[in-house]
Amino acid sequence: MNVFVVNCGSSSLKYQLINSDTEEVIAKGLCERIGIDGKLTHTPAGKDKYVAEVPMPDHKSAVSYVLDALTDSEHGVIKELSEIGAVGHRIVHGGEKFAASVVITDEVITAIEECNDLAPLHNPANLIGISACRALMPEVPMVAVFDTAFHQTMPEKAYMYGLPYEYYENYKVRKYGFHGTSHSFVSKRLLDIIGKTDTPSKVIICHLGNGSSITAVKDGRSVDTSMGFTPLDGLIMGTRSGSLDPAVVQFLAGKLNVSLDEVINILNKKSGVEGISGVSSDFRDLYAASVSGNARAKVALEMFAYRVAQYIGSYVASMNGVDAIAFTAGIGENNSEMRAMIFEYLGYLGITLDKEANAKRGEELMISTPDSRVKVYVIPTNEELAIARETLALI
Ligand code: ADP
Repeated sequence: MNVFVVNCGSSSLKYQLINSDTEEVIAKGLCERIGIDGKLTHTPAGKDKYVAEVPMPDHKSAVSYVLDALTDSEHGVIKELSEIGAVGHRIVHGGEKFAASVVITDEVITAIEECNDLAPLHNPANLIGISACRALMPEVPMVAVFDTAFHQTMPEKAYMYGLPYEYYENYKVRKYGFHGTSHSFVSKRLLDIIGKTDTPSKVIICHLGNGSSITAVKDGRSVDTSMGFTPLDGLIMGTRSGSLDPAVVQFLAGKLNVSLDEVINILNKKSGVEGISGVSSDFRDLYAASVSGNARAKVALEMFAYRVAQYIGSYVASMNGVDAIAFTAGIGENNSEMRAMIFEYLGYLGITLDKEANAKRGEELMISTPDSRVKVYVIPTNEELAIARETLALI
């Protein structure tokens, strides 16, 4: 069966068509500038890329162009829409309502709408993607896969904030965590590799990309994670500040004479390694600048590695041990220099870096030496495949 995986943003829509038998990507692509003008980039497997600048006044028209591209006689990959057996939608926030993926019904849509408050930029866009697909493929079963669901197993002591309890009761202010699809996918694979799928286990997953988060996974369940009420918390990221003293927000609003909204915007979009270095949010640029003597780029990289190491240490403490650690996402899979910097802090766990293995990029491998007490792996993440698998399992 072919599963159509949709990740809908406010003005964009990313998709993949995956053959669930072979798990091959038959086509993938991106619609950009929806509601502004519109551009479709469609990449069918084994054929030339197709790019079209076409008017996309709304998401329904974007989905319609994608479905046309998928069934087109030249750059298409299927003959007719009936070859799409299911649709899997990535949904950012499921609040406390969703601890697992679900088949989409009217009731599910209402429940997702009730979480809009928690992710006002993302959830409404995700819902628009659902209604656009439902309008064009009314008979096809659809599944919602939530970024937050995997972390719903966190215990209260991990997800509560030190705030008056009624803010949790009234407004659901708590840690939710994100990147759940990736943490779930990579932790399952890691448990497979170390042969602990059905036995007690303690692993730490470091999803290090433009957005970064770390999760402690005990017996296959998330027990703590570094992102919080929003993805702003935790690690220092490409452009996000990560955790800081909340009093800084009010202080900066006063000094800069801007609104709280604007300060949060600065913390999300102008901070992190980009803000610290003044160079870039991309770790390749940062490393190049650091090597050529840029002190701020160097300190940005050091701060990133330091905080990753601090979270690993705190999760070893949370779980009273760790069996294995995995690195994933853009930086985790590709950036040998950053991995080496993080390893500098892991000696107390009996971990030594295998320099030869660490020099490789983007493939599944063990990067700790065979005699390391705790093994460290690189495991490429694949959120679209994870969504396709969840979708198939539910329909
Ligand atoms: P997103 O959160 O947008 O999905 P990614 O997981 O794609 O982010 O990660 C993007 C980051 O991965 C970039 O900051 C980039 O520095 C890093 N990255 C990607 N490829 C490489 C590479 N070959 N070497 C070093 N860093 C890389």
